[in-house]
Parts: sequence; C-alpha cells; structure tokens
Amino acid sequence: RPEIGVLALQGGVDEHLAALERSGADPRPVRRPEELAAVRGLVLPGGESTTAARLLDAFDLTAALQERLAGGMPAYGSCAGMILLASEVLGGGALRPLGALDVSVRRNAFGRQVDSFEADLEFAGDVVRAVFIRAPWVERVGAGVRVLATAPAGPQVADDVDRAGRIVAVQQGPVLATAFHPELVGGDELVHRHFVQIVRAR
Ligand code: GLN
Repeated sequence: RPEIGVLALQGGVDEHLAALERSGADPRPVRRPEELAAVRGLVLPGGESTTAARLLDAFDLTAALQERLAGGMPAYGSCAGMILLASEVLGGGALRPLGALDVSVRRNAFGRQVDSFEADLEFAGDVVRAVFIRAPWVERVGAGVRVLATAPAGPQVADDVDRAGRIVAVQQGPVLATAFHPELVGGDELVHRHFVQIVRAR
C-alpha cells in the first residue's frame, strides 16, 4: 500500500483519507515538512484556496511542497486543491498558485454557494458522481495537459453560466486535479483509485 498524504490544514481531510483507504493506499494526514517528506503522493483537498495558501506558508510547507512537486511527486487537488496546483488563477483573490499544472483556472466559475450542484459525468471513460461546491473550472490547458472530464449539460446554474463542456478534470504527468469533490460521494472511488495508480506507477 503506497503511503499517500492528505494535506490536513483545512477542508475535507477525513473524507479524502477514507476514500484513499478504500482505494488501496496507506493514507496519512500531512501538516509538517517531515510528514510531507514521508509520503509518495499528496492530496490537496477542497476548502478555500486563499486560506489554504496562507496556511501552507504558516505551516512552513510552501517551499517543501514546491520542491517535491518539481521533483515529480504525484499530487491530486480537488476544487481549492486544483486552484492551488494551477499556474494561473482567474476570478479574484491575490493567490499565487504552486504552478504544478499548466492550466488557468477560474475560481467560483459555476456561481455562488447556492449554485452548487451534483452531476454524473464521464471521467476517463467511467461514470463518476461529482459534487460541485463553488467550484472552479479550467479555462486554458497547456500542451502537456490531458482533459479527463467536462461538465455535462444541465439546468442553468447561475446567471449567464452555461456549464456544458467546461473542463473539470485534468492530468499532467503525475499531477491530477478535479474541480469537483468525489470524496463526498461514499463508495465511489474512481478518481482516488486513478490517483493511487498514478502513485504506484511512479
Ligand atoms: N471557491 C473555493 C475557492 O476559491 C473553492 C471551493 C471548494 O474547494 N469547494 O478556493
């Protein structure tokens, strides 16, 4: 069982730990640089990306994390975690992202909290139940980035927002990101199993 960390500063930490456990990993919370050094991959959970970036600084993890990512450590970011991994953040906030994924993401792109929604969508050839909570979407993908999922058509979720076809899951090498939260849907470990495979293949 590969040791996979979950960044445990805020957000849905327990849900990711449980999903990783069910996906055949040996999950552990990561709050300190020594804990980061001891894992083979890292999940960055959802939450609030500006706060998460501040907490990374406060816990002395930013430089260590950037170093591990530059060294090819597999990482999976969901929602705010996707924003942290991106190379460019659109839509407000003074966040400087980690730049591990050559994508531009737009924060809160699907609308506000009240516009949160669930949908079944195709993820790398399978169907996954996805929960979107003030989710970002990907507006630009760089050359080495694979699109793994796009949002399905659905009821208009917010004024002027047409969600159909928006990019909501991407992978670049060992770095994976989803705009949605698969960890909030018990029993569906498609995305986590995909990530565990990335870590195993490394
Ligand atoms: N809207 C949040 C942000 O911009 C992300 C929301 C989430 O992680 N569910 O950071």
